[in-house]
Amino acid sequence: MTLSVTALSVGRVFGLPKPSLTYLRGWGQAMDIPLIMFVIRGDGPPVVVDTGADLARAIAHHGIRMEQTPQEEPAAALRSLGVDPDEVRVVVNTHLHWDHSSNNHLFPNARIVIQQREIAYASQPVPWHRRQFEHLPELTAAWRRAEDRIDPVDGDAEVAPGVSVVALPGHTPGSQGVIVEAATKRYLLAGDCVDLYENWAGDGENRHIPSGFFTDIIAYEDSLNRIEKLGCEVVPSHDPLVVERREFR
Ligand SMILES: [Zn+2]
Repeated sequence: MTLSVTALSVGRVFGLPKPSLTYLRGWGQAMDIPLIMFVIRGDGPPVVVDTGADLARAIAHHGIRMEQTPQEEPAAALRSLGVDPDEVRVVVNTHLHWDHSSNNHLFPNARIVIQQREIAYASQPVPWHRRQFEHLPELTAAWRRAEDRIDPVDGDAEVAPGVSVVALPGHTPGSQGVIVEAATKRYLLAGDCVDLYENWAGDGENRHIPSGFFTDIIAYEDSLNRIEKLGCEVVPSHDPLVVERREFR
């Protein structure tokens, strides 16, 4: 079976402060970032990794500057590849932040693969993280719209032929990456463990730079070290160059 990955933009967030992406770096700078839904295709049913934001909720509740063209609406973006949301049997959320998990309900026949630890934390985050998980008095988290189809996993697991999740805690307690065995190489869809290529590339002082948001910086370092050993090409979660390249074969 030959697998390939397509990176689809399902919206863009404007003017994000750079230190929220590159830990303690880029003060005074801002960046526009895409929200990316990955579609893994091969001989079997397609697998979707991350489902983006719900535009109306994001604007109303998160005070975020965001845009989504009709073509970037997740179901429309998927159909542009000739894939119907009904065909998808597996959806993976790399973690439960609202910008990665708000459209799970668009996939009625999919089991939703999430780390058990992530579900636990999203249900009881520290106060400063409540908004990212939509754990708010006035709002029920969007991922709960498909809660009955969640298939919790604990650590590493194969979720479809050639597609495996690997635990990469740090950004959140149950963050996970997705390894895809493609034709010529293995890719790691890293989730927010690696936001941008520059996080992975590091600088003169550090081999890698974490995201500005995390729950455990020590676990985060272990996860970055783990990625080095996986022997994969790393695909970041929010880098505009990923959308530009689009195909990972
Ligand atoms: Zn995140």
